[in-house]
Amino acid sequence: MNTNEAERQNQYMHRVYEINSIPSAKRYHISTFGCQLNENDSEKLEGMLVQMGYSKTENLEESNFIIYNTCCVRENAEQKVYGHLGRLKKLKEKNPELLIAMCGCMMQQKHVIEHIKRTYRHVDIIFGTHNLHKLPELLYTLLYNGEKVIDVWETDGVLTEGIPFERKKGVKAWLTVMYGCNNFCSYCIVPYVRGRERSRELDDILNEANKLSSQGFKEITLLGQNVNSYGKELEKKLSFAELLYRLNGIDGIERIRFMTSHPKDLSDELIDAIRLSAKVCEHLHLPVQAGSTKILKEMNRKYSKENYLELIDKVKNKIPGIALTTDIIVGFPGETEKDFEVTLDVMEKVRYDSAYTFLYSKRTGTPAALKQDQVPEIIKKERFNRLIQLQNTISKEINDTYVGQKVDVLVEGISKTNKDMLTGRTGTNKIVNFSGPAKLIYKTIKVHITNSQTWSLDGEFIS
Ligand code: SF4
Repeated sequence: MNTNEAERQNQYMHRVYEINSIPSAKRYHISTFGCQLNENDSEKLEGMLVQMGYSKTENLEESNFIIYNTCCVRENAEQKVYGHLGRLKKLKEKNPELLIAMCGCMMQQKHVIEHIKRTYRHVDIIFGTHNLHKLPELLYTLLYNGEKVIDVWETDGVLTEGIPFERKKGVKAWLTVMYGCNNFCSYCIVPYVRGRERSRELDDILNEANKLSSQGFKEITLLGQNVNSYGKELEKKLSFAELLYRLNGIDGIERIRFMTSHPKDLSDELIDAIRLSAKVCEHLHLPVQAGSTKILKEMNRKYSKENYLELIDKVKNKIPGIALTTDIIVGFPGETEKDFEVTLDVMEKVRYDSAYTFLYSKRTGTPAALKQDQVPEIIKKERFNRLIQLQNTISKEINDTYVGQKVDVLVEGISKTNKDMLTGRTGTNKIVNFSGPAKLIYKTIKVHITNSQTWSLDGEFIS
């Protein structure tokens, strides 16, 4: 743990606060791209900005400080960021005082920084995933010297605790338990931009969970690129299963979810912890990525189709009714029609409640990007559509089985699709829309399911 660093950044927060002569006038706008880990990192960035006297605005035109927390897991994520950056140039021409900062996974790539330095000279600060906590110091340096600041660490950052959060209001909260990944799946850029696995200390996680409970959050989602290898490198070794048992004892927290798990680290101990911990939701997100063992080998996933299906059988036997979701990549280099049909076969065997599905995207610096047998885009898209069709059918069939059931729903707020309805989720992570009084928001209630869609359920409030 690195409290001195947190204290140091605290001092810089004060200095920036003083520089911002009229704190209320200073507005920030933050755009977050990519995964839940980035969303949680952005909550830290916002926590530091608020401490420095900034207040939030959704309106780019009104903001004095714009931050992009970027993602580079797929090509289109990067193209999206460049598109946005281009548009900021005009804003800066209109308001030369405007400050622009870039951080997140994309900034951990040298070729990206060189591209931004050459093409987007209106960017003032660039920092990476390992030194997010240094925002106050970097901003102070810019405000004080008036010079652009680029500070991206190649080495894995020491985890810094004690950074303030500005969390989204609601009943659910993200809680990051570890950073980085050691798996080096051949298509994935994450290990190169997020570094090696580093777990937070148990006490820091328990303190944060207790704080979340005292702030009224009832559901926490534990985050990590590979949460189920949590604790392996800690001095005092601790398994992810043990962490779940400890968090299960926190008063006020009603539900615990976690993502993302790697099949090779899904132990019997962890399956039992999910089964025996009342607050751990009966939902497991277990990326398979592909069906054919040949492709899994090429992906360096470290399990075969048979291993994966055995694991799924074990989970289903031990926790009947558990919801299963997954990640699938279509069109990995060398994938034949026969390989793809094995992926469809695995989906029919497992019957996932839902699946995050992606077209393979070549990432500079990953081994798979160098493979000769890249699958043509038109074939990828055709296979992708077939896969979606199958998954939609399965998701609807599974949701149909909920009709007539009485389920526990943690009410999150007003439904996004119908303002006259409330919405919430079951333990199995099903979205449920129903009509009821606003006083039910943030409560766990019983709902009778009356109808099902592919991606949500409709119901009536019971009690
Ligand atoms: S487990 Fe594989 S896919 Fe997931 S973050 Fe690590 S390297 Fe990437």
